[in-house]
Amino acid sequence: MEKNKEFAYLRHNMVVSQLLNRNIKDTNVLDAMGKIPRHLFVDKNYRDEAYSDHPLPIIMGQTISQPYIVALMTQELEIANHEKILEIGTGSGYQTAILADIAKEVYTVETIKELFEGAQKVLKNLGYQNIYFKNSDGYNGWLEKAPFDKIIVTAAPLEIPELLTSQLKEQGIMLIPIGFPSQTQILYKVTKSGSRIIKEEVANVAFVPLIKDKIKY
Ligand code: SAH
Repeated sequence: MEKNKEFAYLRHNMVVSQLLNRNIKDTNVLDAMGKIPRHLFVDKNYRDEAYSDHPLPIIMGQTISQPYIVALMTQELEIANHEKILEIGTGSGYQTAILADIAKEVYTVETIKELFEGAQKVLKNLGYQNIYFKNSDGYNGWLEKAPFDKIIVTAAPLEIPELLTSQLKEQGIMLIPIGFPSQTQILYKVTKSGSRIIKEEVANVAFVPLIKDKIKY
C-alpha cells in the first residue's frame, strides 16, 4: 500500500515536471499518464525508475520509451474517442495502454513472442477489453482490420513502409521514427491526403530498429 502511494506520488511528479512543463496539453494524454501504473510495465529491477525521465530496458534487448516521448507521440496523433488505432511494436504494452484509454479500439502488432505474451498478460490483468494483439511482422500492418484512423510505430525503419500508409484512412495520421539505430532519427507526423503523403518533422528521437525479417541491421 505504502509503495503504491509512493508510485502515485512519482507519477504525479512525472506528469507535472516531464509533461506539463514541456508543453503536453492534451488532457486525455495527461489523464491517462496520470493514472496508468507504468511501474507494472517495466522489469521488476527497474520499478523504482519507472517514472524517471528516460527510457528503460525491457526483455529481449528492447526498451520502453521515455514518458515524454510516449506523451508527445500520443498528443500528435490527435486521437478522438471513436477512433481505431494501429500500433506497431507492442513492447511492454505501456504505450498500448495509453492509446486504449483514449481511443475506441487498439490493434497492436509485436514480432517478438515473449513480448507479445507479456504485454497481453499485463493489459488483461489491468482489465483492458478494447485491445487486440497480433504476433507478427509489423511491416505488414494488419490488413484484415484496415483502414485505421491513426497509426503509431514505436521502432524505427529506414523509410516509411508503404503497406502502413496504405492502411491509413484519408486524413489519417501516422507517427513514425525514421533512421538508423544509434544515429539521430527523426520522428515524423505523416498525414494522408488523397494520393499525397504530407510529412512533418516533430522531434529528434532514438528508437530501437523496426526489425526486418528477424534480421537486425
Ligand atoms: N511501445 C513500446 C516500445 C517498445 S520498443 C513500449 O511502450 O514498451 C519497440 C518494439 O517494437 C519492441 O518490442 C520490438 O520487439 C518491436 N518490433 C521491432 N521490430 C518489429 C516488427 N518488424 N514488427 C513488430 N514489432 C517489432
